[in-house]
Amino acid sequence: MTPDRRLFLDANASAPVLEVARAALLDALDLTAGANPSSPHARGRAARRVLDVAREQVAVALAASPKDVFFTSGATEGNRLAVELLVGQARRGRPLVVAASPLEHPSLARPLAAAAAAGLLDLRALPVADDDIATEGDAVDAALADVDVVVCTAAHNETGLVPRLEALARRLADHVVFVVDAAQSLARLGPPPARADVVVASAHKVGGVAGAGAVVLRQRARSLPLPWTGGGQENGLRPGTEAAALHAAFGAACAVIDETRRAHAALAPRRDRLADAVVGPSRGRLLAAGAARLPNTTAVLVPGVDADALRMLLDGAGVDVGFGAACSALSPEPSPGLIALGLADEDTRRVVRLSLAPGMSDEDVDEAARRIADVVHRLQR
Ligand code: PMP
Repeated sequence: MTPDRRLFLDANASAPVLEVARAALLDALDLTAGANPSSPHARGRAARRVLDVAREQVAVALAASPKDVFFTSGATEGNRLAVELLVGQARRGRPLVVAASPLEHPSLARPLAAAAAAGLLDLRALPVADDDIATEGDAVDAALADVDVVVCTAAHNETGLVPRLEALARRLADHVVFVVDAAQSLARLGPPPARADVVVASAHKVGGVAGAGAVVLRQRARSLPLPWTGGGQENGLRPGTEAAALHAAFGAACAVIDETRRAHAALAPRRDRLADAVVGPSRGRLLAAGAARLPNTTAVLVPGVDADALRMLLDGAGVDVGFGAACSALSPEPSPGLIALGLADEDTRRVVRLSLAPGMSDEDVDEAARRIADVVHRLQR
């Protein structure tokens, strides 16, 4: 029997669209009728103004200057753009030495690996120690020796692990380009350190609508060659007609991001309550337990269960959860991020990711924990 009330614990895949973002999207469509922001006529100019306002709002949320903010279609494109900038630089001269955390989203990890396989990058992994990205010690010294670029996510989408970016940033020589994927952290923690030269964000992780995002490029990244030719939009960095209405929604979500961050901070006790209620009864392992975690995210390895049955039964029980990255849930490959945290291949599929959205009550959390424990108990019997 399907429970009458579904419980949503998959906000890291896509956060619920905020009402202000929905309203801004519809207003922008009404105002511009979908006109092209590059058109010189009245509607086009209105679309340009919509984009200008959105850029200011997104810049404030990212603690960046509006002139450094470039709109994209999302964090996948932003990450790809970052890699293409590096590849372009490598083609100009010698291969770049890049140290990347093993927790990067596939949209960053895979193009980096492909560029390394093509001989354009010398790719190293930042070491993991005690369930966290290490920031000191011999292995870190070796990974950072003679490095040109460091890539480290501001929060791991699968486990919520929050690396110590400030400590890492302090280790970087002045010329090193620091690339930070802030997709998961922006609305939950705040902007990444100002030392980050390339910052990637996504609208649907902050209460906007999927299909929009932004990249911040600060000084050190500005001399990298532009990777794509085209119509010249976004100062030539990202050609293609800007999605003004989607960016209006992104901007509106960013305009209330302080409130969203406070609401996320308030989730931390519920995150812990949920973890306690799920980990003990399932004899599970809380992932990234030794590190700082996003205030909304709990990832649990549930031992001794069939991963497909777990998926199906939780869905049937009306609990919407994530299994690792939503995107890698479509891929048969075990998640490299979970392997880096010490999981065996087969266990990576038994990781349930519980990511709360603001507004989830203690009662909802208890009810979700009860349903999850019930399903796990049936499968572990
Ligand atoms: N980076 C991270 C850390 C993510 O969590 C995601 C989405 N799961 C992405 C990048 C890709 O974002 P988008 O869906 O906006 O392309």
